[in-house]
Amino acid sequence: MAGALPYTAPVSPTDCLFCRIVAGEIPATVVRETGTTLAFRDIDPKAPVHVLVIPKEHYADVATLAQDDPGLTAEVLATAAAVAEDEGLLGDGFRLMFNTGAYGGQEVFHVHAHLLGGAPLGPMLAGNLT
Ligand code: 5GP
Ligand code: ZN
Repeated sequence: MAGALPYTAPVSPTDCLFCRIVAGEIPATVVRETGTTLAFRDIDPKAPVHVLVIPKEHYADVATLAQDDPGLTAEVLATAAAVAEDEGLLGDGFRLMFNTGAYGGQEVFHVHAHLLGGAPLGPMLAGNLT
């Protein structure tokens, strides 16, 4: 099994915000649910459409998920694509983003894809970092 990346703080699922949303202990506006994935609206949206797509099973980040369970990774992407279609984003496009670790600005250590769309999203990064 691939280990967690060095920067991923260990989180027990019982302490994990998104595990608690999966368990129904914390409310969320769910837009799609499958046997293995959940999609719900971000509480602080950064675009007209801002949906978080997660595996129900706890993985800290996308690297750990992809290394440990490629099939589940594909299910997360398929759910994101279905939500993009439901939200009418396929024509004009959208952004799908996994913030990962400290440099990536990850704040919740249960892997989640940000599905963003509904308006032009601007440059990928705020500025040129090179
Ligand atoms: P990160 O910075 O880890 O990539 O993104 C975490 C996201 O989770 C943020 O966009 C934040 O607004 C969202 N978030 C944090 N707490 C909650 C919550 O309790 N409910 C929902 N729906 N989203 C949340
Ligand atoms: Zn979790």
